[in-house]
Amino acid sequence: MRIIIVSTSIGYLGSGKGGGVELTLNSLVLGLLHKGHNVKVVAPDQSQLSEQCKSVELVCVRGMQQTSWQHQDYYAAAETSQDSIVNALIDKALSLSNNSDLIINLSYDLQPISKTLESQVPIAHLISMGNESFAISNQIKKIYSKFPHNFAFHTKIQASDYPFVINPIIVGNGFQLSNYTFCDEKDGPLGWIGRVSPEKGLEDAVHVANKLQERLNVWGYIEDEKYALMVEDLASAGLLSWRGFLSTNKLQEELCRCRALINTPKWNEAYGNVVVEAMACGVPVVAYRRGGPSEIIKHGLTGFLVEPDNKYELLEYLKKINLIDRYKCRSWVEHNASHNIFADKVEGWLQKVIENFSNSK
Ligand code: UDP
Repeated sequence: MRIIIVSTSIGYLGSGKGGGVELTLNSLVLGLLHKGHNVKVVAPDQSQLSEQCKSVELVCVRGMQQTSWQHQDYYAAAETSQDSIVNALIDKALSLSNNSDLIINLSYDLQPISKTLESQVPIAHLISMGNESFAISNQIKKIYSKFPHNFAFHTKIQASDYPFVINPIIVGNGFQLSNYTFCDEKDGPLGWIGRVSPEKGLEDAVHVANKLQERLNVWGYIEDEKYALMVEDLASAGLLSWRGFLSTNKLQEELCRCRALINTPKWNEAYGNVVVEAMACGVPVVAYRRGGPSEIIKHGLTGFLVEPDNKYELLEYLKKINLIDRYKCRSWVEHNASHNIFADKVEGWLQKVIENFSNSK
């Protein structure tokens, strides 16, 4: 297939602003390349693909930056300026689509979804969030009624946020396993990874690190400075270590030495890349039973699932984390979330999208 991938509009690839979609895009490109497909990527200006994807044509476009939907009011109006980056991305993809079989859209936004009706090539949407916007949810509902195969989700629990979606197509996510080194170290610090933003619940991880008087390493893009300062104030002196936003290679080098990853989402996390990245390094995860992580982590085998927001339970399970066999964490990723497994699932989905598109004409 000749495929054009539209990146997230929230940040350029490599900035960290685009969250998990940045890594997902690189894994997807790599998996599709391995399967012999021809791939082009349309992304915001300054974007860079990972080393392994450098052979792919990357088309960068400029446009006005926008706020991510999860940081706007749920009922925020569906107005976007003509100059917005998301318009530029989908318009560029459409202008290149003459010789393509289909477009995959990774941007959680209105315009790419609405263009599905008028496009001459099918647009397949890999939805990267739960229901964070009334306007987007309605847009998906409208297009879904005509093109139900054009939407895929990372997890069942994410898809359940869209009650009109019957028998959702679930593709999971994928990770290039050779990028993550397994490490059997059980005495390292605690870890937490994510955009530093209220929906990620870093304060709960700080709470348990305080109780245990253990060091907590935090990696991620600081999206909300005020929130970061508030969290820092909660931490006992010397326990919280801001490690910054690192490349995957550097991140995994540090992450693999952790004795546990704490994952404390306050929202319906669509997937939770960082949970799987930790497991790929052999690091077990203690997470709230909420969103994607609750479908990924096998309680008692690869980590523990805790009643959402229950910090006491979080603490109790962290005390038991050394009972988890770190090899089982890595093994789960190898068997369920490699970039090749992901590409197989996506390929099956795309074939359905193309088939249904030609039948609908
Ligand atoms: N990440 C990174 N370097 C860091 C911290 C995080 O590359 O120092 C990446 C991480 O690999 C993951 C993403 O940030 O792909 C966060 O994605 P996740 O799905 O966990 O959450 P999202 O931000 O999409 O809500």
